[in-house]
Amino acid sequence: VKQVKLTVDDYVKGILAGNRMILSRAITLIESNASVHFAMAQEVIQKILPYTGKSMRIGITGVPGAGKSTLIEALGTKLCQQGHKVAVLAVDPSSTVTRGSILGDKTRMEQLSREPNAFIRPSPSGGTLGGLTRKSRETLLLCEAAGYDTILVETVGVGQSETTVRSMVDFFLLVVLTGAGDELQGMKKGVMELADAILVNKADGDNKQRALVTRAEYERILQFLRQATEHWTTHAYTCSAYTGEGIMDFWQNVVKVFMKQGFANGVLKERRKQQTISWVYTMIEEHLHNLFYRCPEIIKSKGEIEEDVINGKLSATLAVQQLIDKFANADINENSL
Ligand code: GDP
Repeated sequence: VKQVKLTVDDYVKGILAGNRMILSRAITLIESNASVHFAMAQEVIQKILPYTGKSMRIGITGVPGAGKSTLIEALGTKLCQQGHKVAVLAVDPSSTVTRGSILGDKTRMEQLSREPNAFIRPSPSGGTLGGLTRKSRETLLLCEAAGYDTILVETVGVGQSETTVRSMVDFFLLVVLTGAGDELQGMKKGVMELADAILVNKADGDNKQRALVTRAEYERILQFLRQATEHWTTHAYTCSAYTGEGIMDFWQNVVKVFMKQGFANGVLKERRKQQTISWVYTMIEEHLHNLFYRCPEIIKSKGEIEEDVINGKLSATLAVQQLIDKFANADINENSL
């Protein structure tokens, strides 16, 4: 089927009307690396911006096998049945390399994908982590404008992806498995400090008792860690994504309470503000980084200057000065966002 060309207004109207086909195509536009698409996508985003910000933005991380997709499927389906509109996005840095992605390969969330109120979008592939981040953030905004009130952003703990997702959501959930105390100690402290809750999954059958023990161990460790969110204490909970036990309790009594409190005391408003501003500067840094390393003047003289530094002919600081001077005088005119 040949697709009709859409104008910016077609995209905007379609998105605001909640048209999933047009939403999908708008995301494809955002994900495109062609510069004509870039300009058009930015126009669309600019126009839908006033309609964004009304969702609960929830990040979910955990090692492969922890049960993230099973949990999202169970939770998402339940929320859809309650009348919510749920968008599931993925941020998977492994999709930026050709080896294929960790999150994308499986046939996932079959039940949820049949819900008319659910929208599932795999991680954009190709490009840099910075590009991936921009695309995911912009996709989140489009979904909000299309009326999705709950946005679940899933990621795997690869490289910087947890920090990336933390920087675009209100609430960040770490899904973990039962384990012995030693394993818990080896768990990345940094990730635990990003989390607003830790959910010990697979608390069912023979594993239930162990899950409760694991939960208590996490509670103990959490006491010594920095809090992820002001005026909020991160706790550990148990659930079974499989049987559904504990999931809606957790949603109701933890996530929703967090959101309500966070908006009442201003923490979330401030968080979103900071996130947007720091996103601007992150993009600037990346843009400058790209411009620098792609600059023909730099490419040309880099080797020689490096040689001089290695041979002790030039101090590192003077080398920086020379390279920056060359960069500043070069004619840079490129779109590398
Ligand atoms: P992900 O890699 O984190 O997305 O993990 P999956 O959702 O794909 O789950 C990994 C495996 O664990 C699958 O075989 C699931 O069926 C199983 N699983 C997920 N949640 C539970 C649970 O609550 N209880 C049990 N017993 N198995 C589960």
